[in-house]
Amino acid sequence: MRNKFLIIGLAMGSIAFGQSDSTCVAITTKNISCKIKVNVDITNYCHHHNPDLVNVNRCNGISKSTNEQCKLKTKHESGLCHHHRPKND
Ligand SMILES: [Zn+2]
Ligand SMILES: [Zn+2]
Repeated sequence: MRNKFLIIGLAMGSIAFGQSDSTCVAITTKNISCKIKVNVDITNYCHHHNPDLVNVNRCNGISKSTNEQCKLKTKHESGLCHHHRPKND
């Protein structure tokens, strides 16, 4: 009997979760689609992948290890984080 209730509970939970929202459309660094739920009425991306949010105040420096744009955020007027700013600044 207990098991039956548990299954019903799980089913109801997933229905409630999947109502009007979907998952983020971005592909993660592991080459799998992001599973974070998003409200598709507002955006197709989660807060990790939304380009509007990701690039706000983002450092313009290039990471030496990955050759990709630095992922740190900065509010410095140079647009560079403390790693990428010249030391004498
Ligand atoms: Zn995402
Ligand atoms: Zn940086």
